Amino acid sequence: MQEVSSITEPHTSGSRWFMTTEDKVTLSCLILAMHTHWEEISVMDERNTPMRSYQVCNVMEANQNNWLRTRHIPRDGAQRVYIEIKFTLRDCNSLPGVPGTCKETFNMYYYESNNPNLWFIKESQYVKIDTIAADESFTQTDVGDRVMKLNTEVRDISNLSKKGFYLAFQDVGACIALVSLRVFYKKCPTAVLNLAQFPDTVTGGDSALVEVRGSCVNDSEEFEAPRMYCSADGGWLVPIGRCVCKPGFEESKDYCQPCRPGTYKASSMDGYCSKCPPHSYSHQEKASECECEKGFYRADMDPRSMACTRPPSVPENPISTLNDTSVTLEWSPPRDSGGRGDVTYNIHCRKCPGDGRKCSPCGSGVHFLPRQFGLSMAKVLVSDLLSNTNYTFSIEAVNGVSDLSPTLKQQVTVNITTGQTVSVILKERKSKDSITLAWQGPDRPNGAIVEYEVIYYEKNQRDQNYTVLKTKSNVMTVEGLKPGTTYVFRVRARTDGGYGSYGGEIELETSHEGELPPASSCSEGISKIFMLSLMVSTFTCCRHCGYIKAKQDPDEEKMQFQHGRVKLPGSRTYIHPHTYEDPNQAVRDFAKEIDASSIRIERVIGAGEFGEVCSGRLKLPSKREIYVAIKSLKAGYSEKQRRDFLSEASIMGQFDHPNIIRLEGVVTRCKPVMIITEYMENGSLDTFLKKHDGQFTIIQLVGMMRGIASGMKYLSDMNYVHRDLAARNILVNSNLVCKVSDFGLSRVLEDDPEAAYTTRGGKIPIRWTAPEAIAYRKFTSASDVWSYGIVMWEVMSYGERPYWEMSNQDVIKAIDEGYRLPAPMDCPVVLHQLMLDCWEKSRSERPKFGQIVNTLDKLIRNPNSLKELGNLTDFSKLLSFRVVWCEMAHCRETYQCRFLISLQWW
Ligand code: AMP
Repeated sequence: MQEVSSITEPHTSGSRWFMTTEDKVTLSCLILAMHTHWEEISVMDERNTPMRSYQVCNVMEANQNNWLRTRHIPRDGAQRVYIEIKFTLRDCNSLPGVPGTCKETFNMYYYESNNPNLWFIKESQYVKIDTIAADESFTQTDVGDRVMKLNTEVRDISNLSKKGFYLAFQDVGACIALVSLRVFYKKCPTAVLNLAQFPDTVTGGDSALVEVRGSCVNDSEEFEAPRMYCSADGGWLVPIGRCVCKPGFEESKDYCQPCRPGTYKASSMDGYCSKCPPHSYSHQEKASECECEKGFYRADMDPRSMACTRPPSVPENPISTLNDTSVTLEWSPPRDSGGRGDVTYNIHCRKCPGDGRKCSPCGSGVHFLPRQFGLSMAKVLVSDLLSNTNYTFSIEAVNGVSDLSPTLKQQVTVNITTGQTVSVILKERKSKDSITLAWQGPDRPNGAIVEYEVIYYEKNQRDQNYTVLKTKSNVMTVEGLKPGTTYVFRVRARTDGGYGSYGGEIELETSHEGELPPASSCSEGISKIFMLSLMVSTFTCCRHCGYIKAKQDPDEEKMQFQHGRVKLPGSRTYIHPHTYEDPNQAVRDFAKEIDASSIRIERVIGAGEFGEVCSGRLKLPSKREIYVAIKSLKAGYSEKQRRDFLSEASIMGQFDHPNIIRLEGVVTRCKPVMIITEYMENGSLDTFLKKHDGQFTIIQLVGMMRGIASGMKYLSDMNYVHRDLAARNILVNSNLVCKVSDFGLSRVLEDDPEAAYTTRGGKIPIRWTAPEAIAYRKFTSASDVWSYGIVMWEVMSYGERPYWEMSNQDVIKAIDEGYRLPAPMDCPVVLHQLMLDCWEKSRSERPKFGQIVNTLDKLIRNPNSLKELGNLTDFSKLLSFRVVWCEMAHCRETYQCRFLISLQWW
């Protein structure tokens, strides 16, 4: 409530009558008419200050009717007006000898009028406001002291409607002194609420509320029309609606202040100015948006609060897996997503026919699954490719701001050559129980043919019984056939990239009993020439054709499939170099001697037990130049060291599998003695994984593990026990193909820095080795499976050290007590389960490598099965003993910590 108008203190001291002190109030009241007996006199107030008053005190006479009236008081829009009077009133009893007509009250009236100049108002025209009595009247004594007690009374008149009014005081026989008269009305003061300004508002009459519309303060705008009610008491009630600061301004108390440089406010609905998001700035005040730094952008749909972003870097580690005329491309996400989560991939395809015609876009004949552009997964299947054609796939990563950047999108390219259809001349020589086939390799081989596979079966008997033969040679004699029987033959070739499809079928009949075989020799005896279509799948990036070993028989494998089950009658077995009386003979048998002049050493890439490991190039006559790794035997070696060094070559030379490091040959006839192997661009798997921590998709990781398992299956099928399978002994090439390496005979004892002496004297890489191998040196393929489980764990944890910093003794103890490594972070449950299977205490219960390959193949075919993550939940299932949560601050991560603590618990 606020009094806004008063008629109180006079300008000059001495009078409180009808003077206006506040400019905005124009109520000017002056006593206009004085009837008989009212006098204007000076008296002293309570503090003995002199003041003017109007007095009447005609108590000795009866029938008094003395009037005192004000001038016209303009209403000024007020409907209700308050009148405060201060007066003194003499107690009749204190007046000696006054008659009974003496009064102790007086009356107050008003008269509303538009006319400010009325000189005369009839008594009957007045409206009575009240009869005023004194709360305190004063007595003789007071008078004697000249101290008067002031009474204050307030009355109001409402529902005024004319321009103004007159007030009048009627004395009917009292002794009164009117000291002050204040006439005022109330109004609701200017107010700012919810950023809306409400003007001074005069209150309504009686108890009516006055609705007032507010106006938004500077730099603000209406969110909802602001309104308030001004109450009769002069108070604001019920605020409704509000204003909000415009973009670029923020609320500060009752006004909107500009956002400072470096901050912005994008929408009026945002509360306050915020710091410019990363990679953006605002140099001026009042910014509603921050500008992006050079090279950074904001997509249309990006909220202004989002950091400015940039196009992603190029996708990495592309791998292609070719299968006839379709190829699966996989890659790792770009190292830099540009700061956005909407990275997608586009594949651009160009084809170059092998016949020298110009390259052109692939056109609509090629199909992409799930699509060619806007791929969200880092994988695509491209099908319906033309055969015998070079394709270049450019994979680009794009995000929501790629189109805003003027720079060209970075692409990684993958070149592939689709299966090459070649004509194969099939030669045939037959007897009653054998047929000799010979075929010519592809005219223009695009890569190394690892082997040919010949499948045959009795005509119309395929479902019952068929036989698969493998050979590196292109001549094969199939024996043990029935006389006079027609067999169906088909041939396909295998390269590093896998098998091509079978070519057409050829039907050949063995001679009947008694029928003479043709007299001509195999080479002359071409009785028929068949044209056979043979699909050879190769990658253009793959190596040149492998050499054909001098001995042919061991290269030929025979597997008989009966009702889908595999028999391996002719399966090859690894020959331990020590079984040779002369170890040099083993080298001669299994490794090709290379002329040192065809080797160019380029740089050192590692250190082996016997000397440096270098990379370089090998150019053999009539072969393409290829990159190779060159291990050399350091000078001053003993004969034993030379034997041990070369034993790796005689072991490696017996293997031929896409997931086993391939021996190119040896240099033994001059010094230094060298072992030449294929070059693996990405070096050893453990270092590679650490370098690319978290960068591969689960499928890529499973692909790596699958490769290793496949190599190990091959080794175990050959009865070779590796004994030191670990990520450090796996090499990775540029296509992410993993190959098992490190076949030295002495390596487990000497070479491996992880190897430690056991109580029985042998040196063993404890963390990777199965308990029975540690305890009593029982090394088998099953102990390799245990190591394989550890390699899986290394892969899934991106090269973490198994059992972290635990001592070897603690590892042995923990394993013995049944503890097993928990699932690495984000490791699918199925993979951890497979690891656990590999770590079965009883070695017969561990899976075989063949089963592991099958399991991983299934997972790759059904990636949904990889979605459930092991992480912490597995832990409790895993252990039969109590798990204690980590509370140790120094623990590096929860798994490790829980692991260590559970051990301590024990
Ligand atoms: P090793 O003596 O076989 O353990 O080799 C020592 C190091 O040389 C390995 O850890 C690799 O980093 C590197 N290395 C060995 N062979 C190759 C290869 N074929 N390609 C690339 N790097 C290799």
